Formats: sequence, structure tokens, C-alpha cells
Amino acid sequence: MARYADVAVELPVAGTFTYRVPAAWPAAPAAGARVVVPFGNRRISGVVLGDGEPPEDRAAIRDIASLVDAEPQLSRQLIDLCRWIADYYMAPLGEVLRAALPAGTRVRTPVVFALTDEGKQALAGQTALPAAWRDVLATLDASGGRAGHKALCRGRVRASHLRALEEAGLITAAAKKGATRIRARTVRIAILAVDLSAARSALAKKKAKLALVEHLAAAGGEAEFSALRTSFPQAPGHLKQLAKDGLVTIAERTMVPDAAVTAGAPHPPPPALTDDQTRALAALIAGLDSGTFSPALLFGVTGSGKTEVYLRAIAAAIERGRTAIVLVPEISLTPQLAARFRARFGDQVAVLHSGLSLRARMDEWQRLRSGAARIAVGARSAVFAPVDRPAIIVVDEEHDSSFKQEEGVRYCARDVALVRAKRAGAVCVLGSATPSMESFSAATAGRYQLLRMPERATPRPLPEVAVIDFRTYQPERESMITAPLATAIEGALERGDQAILFLNRRGFSTFIVCVGCGHAFRCAHCSVSLTFHQTHQRMMCHYCGYTEPLPAACPGCGGTDTISRRGLGTEKIAARVSERFAGARVGRLDRDVGGSARVEAILARFAAGELDILVGTQMVTKGHDFPRVTVVGVLCADVGLSLPDFRAAERGFQLLTQVAGRAGRGDGAGRVLIQTYRPDSPAIACARKHDYEAFFGLEKNARESLGYPPFGHMIAIRIDGADPAKVAAEARRLGARASDKAGPAQVLGPCEAPLARLRGRFRWQLWLRCPERREVRALCRHVLASAPPPGAGVRVAVDVDPISAL
Ligand code: ADP
Ligand code: ZN
Repeated sequence: MARYADVAVELPVAGTFTYRVPAAWPAAPAAGARVVVPFGNRRISGVVLGDGEPPEDRAAIRDIASLVDAEPQLSRQLIDLCRWIADYYMAPLGEVLRAALPAGTRVRTPVVFALTDEGKQALAGQTALPAAWRDVLATLDASGGRAGHKALCRGRVRASHLRALEEAGLITAAAKKGATRIRARTVRIAILAVDLSAARSALAKKKAKLALVEHLAAAGGEAEFSALRTSFPQAPGHLKQLAKDGLVTIAERTMVPDAAVTAGAPHPPPPALTDDQTRALAALIAGLDSGTFSPALLFGVTGSGKTEVYLRAIAAAIERGRTAIVLVPEISLTPQLAARFRARFGDQVAVLHSGLSLRARMDEWQRLRSGAARIAVGARSAVFAPVDRPAIIVVDEEHDSSFKQEEGVRYCARDVALVRAKRAGAVCVLGSATPSMESFSAATAGRYQLLRMPERATPRPLPEVAVIDFRTYQPERESMITAPLATAIEGALERGDQAILFLNRRGFSTFIVCVGCGHAFRCAHCSVSLTFHQTHQRMMCHYCGYTEPLPAACPGCGGTDTISRRGLGTEKIAARVSERFAGARVGRLDRDVGGSARVEAILARFAAGELDILVGTQMVTKGHDFPRVTVVGVLCADVGLSLPDFRAAERGFQLLTQVAGRAGRGDGAGRVLIQTYRPDSPAIACARKHDYEAFFGLEKNARESLGYPPFGHMIAIRIDGADPAKVAAEARRLGARASDKAGPAQVLGPCEAPLARLRGRFRWQLWLRCPERREVRALCRHVLASAPPPGAGVRVAVDVDPISAL
């Protein structure tokens, strides 16, 4: 009887597809295994979801082409989680499943077609063939029997002809060799299939084979090919024959790779917990033991020892024989952080880092899947870590926007973590010094347990924060440093301490303009101005990476001495600061510094005291613990606060608090100086007093009155394409469709996105908002039902719970 499988293909198409399991296969592939299936004229990979229903029209059903995994890669739990994501974020299931699998494992199979013997005969035998068929066979014959899709689909030949020819058996389609893919490591093993006595009588006259079989029996009936070959050079050939005779079975076994890095030097014993830590830990352990979903917000100031609490709670989960997942922002996933976990848990930890090679990531992933490692530490996508029934999921810095994926499947890993924990009956700890509005609202409403740690774990007070008003203190033109900040930096240098200067803007000058004619130098593909980078002597777009040299003459007016560089970026500040503070060793940290190795090198030099001042962007604000930093200067707090985004104030507050948290972590008291044109803005005024709850209160009122999240639900529909008129027309059409059916929901727009052009594509957006989640989702589905099909030149993407307004 024919068997069928339900397969989600890795394509942006809705729904799943039924395929027939080839009759020759001993068993149907397990749910969670990847397969290659024919789709149109292509072969693509997909994931088996389970048995398929026998279809009405059996003739239209095609066979699975091949099996990729002998063992399922995704557990039932993960498949179910992916189904939830596909539904909630309105994304194709196949794409969600792909996001859940480790990077680099996607099976891409360009197809080559080959002439079969029947095909050759048909061509030679002058049988009556459709003209297009004959064309295909002739082309194949002329090109040595094999050709790709492109070479064949010419003239009157259509893709459907290839499929018909394939079904008639005149050609075959096969995956082209060399498609890159990282596979799990497997080893070939031989298993003795019969009693030793039976083997002895069967092999009475075959000494060499008998010796091999005796050896196999002595090894417990099972051995790896490679091991056998060292004592029996002819083992591979002999084993094949023995398998034919039914005396041994040959199988592939997935190997559990070794840990990427072995645990480092012995580590100091964990500190005795503070009272706050003890209370927080007790609450989490009670959650573990309850066996029910226990969400908690660990609201602890920077340096309050949140990480220590995570480590202890995870240890408790491991003692109970369970597993754990730790999500951190990509930028905090440093070797130091990984080392902290490894020092505590050794090889039980697997780190999933995009900086690892694909091979290393696959190995770590397989260690988790096999159970050899039980703690997954990673950025966003580690929420899909293949651990069995996690007992605790930690989301550190839960407010961080990097948990939201901004392309493809636009999921938020923090929210998915909550859902995964709920389904597993697990503890979910969200940790932050500056919780997101969403999480703090949920905690104050009693939906999450609120665990407070208002003091630092070490006897260091939070640093004193001073706000420097630019209207009172003129900044120095080239360095942006005011007199009070200069005095503080000099003080730190005299004491032999260190300083961090933060500016949320990299590059040398932020925009370049011709003072003769006003010509502004803008990116050729995005609607933003270019930033000048001194080191490369080029202008660069910070959105798409486009660069061009600074021209000798203005393209507008031809002036040669009129091109002026305005504004300041980290590169220029670093240069000026090292001139300004003679003798100080100045380092710079931003994305232009280079890859993670370069970044680590700079951080290591700063930690070792080889640098006195570190100038940088956001990258200096996260997680680092430099005990000798006593002065932190925020050069211009206003950068970013006035973006056209309802989250701008929240982000600004979080950023200022994070930067301030870098000061005074060691013996010396810390000072933070925030320079600004707007000392009264809530984000700055509250950051100055380290007063998260005051900020939350003000921001809550603002959001509530406007119906913004978390007091309303939003979905953004993003429309983009290469043709601006088409994009605008499509956006207006979808907007009208939304307005017609809006009901209680509000429709905002459609309008051009603030970043109206990105990588050459014109962008519009349409926002749907409603206090009721159900309403806004129904409206969105209604709009999407008339979205243009793929290939129409306009792309429509849904962003559920959007966090970027750009
Ligand atoms: P957070 O994650 O809240 O910013 P960390 O866990 O990184 O804080 O802790 C900040 C510093 O305090 C670290 O150097 C850590 O080793 C130390 N620390 C944490 N808990 C304690 C404790 N109970 N006693 C002493 N030091 C502690
Ligand atoms: Zn650009």
C-alpha cells in the first residue's frame, strides 16, 4: 500500500504538500527529517511533518526524491513551535523550519537532466514524439547526455515538457553534485547480524573473513569501519560481501562531535549570593519544581549579579536532569561570556555563535540534539536549540532589539522563548536593568513574577550621573567635549583610571555637503546621506555598505574647494581626542573596526590597561566589565532620541542606562557625564536618576493615550519594489482595502517609509493598530488576501509586533 508524507518545502509558499514515499523505502521518513522533493521542475528540500493523507487525485502525487537525514533533525516539540510561529507571524512554515535548522544546512540542489536509455532509443528510433520533446532529447544528446534546466528550456520547450519527459522515463532529473551543505558527521559501522556460531559455519573455508567476524564479535558485535581497517586492510571489501551474504549489517551512525572548546582553567568558586540574589533564585527554583510555566522578570540594575542568578538556576535545572537555553544579544555573545558558562558547566554548554564556522556551529548543534550538551547559549536563533524539554529559558537583556529578526520570518526570540517555555512547562527568565515596556507591563499586571535586584552585587554604588547642557557649556568644535567632561577625563588620566566616550554614530563626518551649491552626497541605493571614513578615504552608506571616493570636484557646481564635511562620528572623535589629551592612549570600537577578532583584540587591550580612553558606539555599552573605568562620557545623547519612531525614547533611555552602567564597577567611584541639547527630555532626566520606574510611568502614559504597544497590538505591512510608481499604487490599493474593513482597528498610512529607499528598493508602509489582537490580525489577513503574487515586482511583507518604524 502506498504511503504518503506531509512535507513543508523551504520556499515562501503557504501550506504543506503531500508526497508519496518511494515504494522501495523500508519505512516512511520520520517527522522532522529533511527530504528532497520535486517541486515544479526543481528539486528543493523540505521537512517531513508526519504521515500524509492519501490524496484524492493520486496520479498527481509525486515521489520524494531522496532522504537527507537518517534521523529526524527537528523534534515534534520544535515542529509544533514552528507551526505556532508560522501562524502568529504569518510566515510560510517552510521558511520558519529553515530558520530553526542550523545555518548552512540548507539543501540547494540545482538540477541536471540526463538522457536515459529509453530516451536515446526514442530519439534514434524515429518514434512519433512531440516536437518540444524531440528538442529536449536532441539538446541533451548534443551536450553529452546531460544539461541544466536553463539550457533545455529554450524556444518552444517549457518546464512542463521536462516534467512530462521525466514521467515518461525518457530523461531523469538528478541533483547536481557539489551543492554545498554541512552534514552531520557520520561514521560507517558494521554490526554482526547473526550468531557467531552461525557465522563460523558459514565461513568455514574463508579464513580472512572469519577472522574479521571473530574480531567484530569480540568487540561486542559492532565496530567502526575505520577501526576495523587498521587491523584488516581488506575490511571494506570483505564487509560488503559479508553484508550481501546477510552476515553483517552496515549502517551510518551520527557521531556526537567533541565540544568546540574544552573547559578552560579552573575557576574561582562562585560567590556567596546577596540577599536579593538568594530571593530571586529561590523563586526560580520554586518555578522549576512546580513543573508549570513560570515566567519571571529579573529586574536588576547593571552589576546586580543577574548572570550569577542565571548560572545557579541553570545548575538547578541540570541537577534535575533537564536542559536549559540562554539567549543573549548577538553583541554580548563574547568569548568572555561563553567562558563564564564553560567555567561553570564545562562541556555541557554548547555555544551557537554566528562567528563560528558553519562546521563548528553544526557540531555544537548536534551535541545539543544528541543530549551530549544540555545548555545552549546563543543569540536569537538559539531559541530553536534542539534540546529536549528545556526546564529553563533565560533571555538576558530582554529589551534588546536584536532579538527581533528584521527580515524573512520576523519573529521576536523573546516572545518565542515565552511560548516555548509555556509549552514545555518551563521557567522563562527575562533579565534586564531596563525592561521593555511590554515585559514590565506584564510584570506589574501580575502576568510575570517580578524579581527585583535594585543594588549592585559588589559594594559599589551606581555611578553619579551629571547632565551637561550644551546651551551652557559650548562643546569644543572638533571633539564635542565640553569643559566639565574634559576636566573629568583629565582627572581619570591623572589617577591612572580609564574613560569611555560614547557616540551613537560611527565614521569621520556624518554628512558631506557642497557649500557652493548645496549638493548633498547621498547613497545611490538608499535615501540616506553618505558618511566620510578617513581610513578608507571614501564615503560610505551605513545601511547598505555602498562606498564611493570623495570626488575632487562637486558634481553639482564643479567647485573644487567647496566640499565640506559636517558633523562628527567616532572615527573623527577618536582622532581629536588623542590630540586633545596628549599622552593618552586612545582606542576606537565600532563596526568599522572589523570582525569579531579585531573587536576582541581592542577590548582585550583596554582590559589589560594598554589603552586609557575607548571611544565607541553601542558596542562599548554592552556587558563589559572594566573595573578601572571611572569616567563615562556620552558625547551627544540627542542622537537617536528624535527618530520618527514611537520607541525612540525607550531606546534612548535604555542606551543611556547601559552606558552609565559601565562606570565605577571597580574600586574607584564612577562618574557619568551626559552631554545634551535637551536635558529635560524624559529619557535623559530619568537616566540621570537611574530611575527606570519613573521613565516607565511617563512612557506608559504616552503610549496608553496613543494606543501604542503594549496597550495596543500592531502589525506593519511593508511594501517595496524597484518601481516607485508601482509600489505607491500597490500601497494605496492595500491601504484602501484595509480602511474598507477596518472595524475597530485603526489604519495608519499608507505612507512612504522614513527610510524611503533601501538597497535600491522603494519602500512604503501601512500600519494596523487595535486594542484587540484578534481584530488587527483578522484585518491583516484580509489585506494579505489580495497581496500581489511573487514575481509581480512588488513585495509585501508582514511584520507582526514591529519594532522598527524605519
Ligand atoms: P549583571 O548581569 O546583573 O550585570 P553580573 O552577574 O555580571 O551582573 O555581576 C556583576 C559583577 O558582580 C561580576 O563581576 C560578578 O562576578 C559580581 N558578582 C555577582 N554576584 C556576586 C556576589 N553575590 N558577590 C560578589 N560579587 C558578585
Ligand atoms: Zn545605501
